[in-house]
Amino acid sequence: MTTYRGETAMSVTFEALPTDLVEALRSGAPDANGMVAERMVSDGQGMPCRHCLRNVPAGREALVLNHRPFAALHPYAESGPIFLCADACAPGDGPAPELLTYSPDFLVKAYNAEERIIYGTGAITPAEEVASRCETLLRDPEVAFVDVRSARNNCFLTRAKRV
Ligand SMILES: [Zn+2]
Repeated sequence: MTTYRGETAMSVTFEALPTDLVEALRSGAPDANGMVAERMVSDGQGMPCRHCLRNVPAGREALVLNHRPFAALHPYAESGPIFLCADACAPGDGPAPELLTYSPDFLVKAYNAEERIIYGTGAITPAEEVASRCETLLRDPEVAFVDVRSARNNCFLTRAKRV
């Protein structure tokens, strides 16, 4: 990457859910609805794990549970269904997780430090443009993080932050 004088190079990382949370959920800790995770067998196609940020391999068990990816309760603190590998997996944080290739497009939207949606930032974004869109949004100091969700089902997938 070329950096010009006066311009700060910035890149984006996509976060995995915290490993301690994932391990607790695998052990039967209640989800955001106070329920134990359900289990399904993955078809290997459309079950992206929010920890390794890859599809749960075909034939392996996936946990299905409700997750609220916000620190506080408030009107913007959506919760919804997510998948996790039922088996141990390594956190998939990084600039280009495999998860961002499983769909042709994703819902991308920015939040401020109070976890409120910044109106006007939300957009269905082609998969190959998600990282650059997140980086553009994160150049605005008002933006604390950018969430990437399913474009069709609105399920939370991963959170982009400044490196
Ligand atoms: Zn996984």
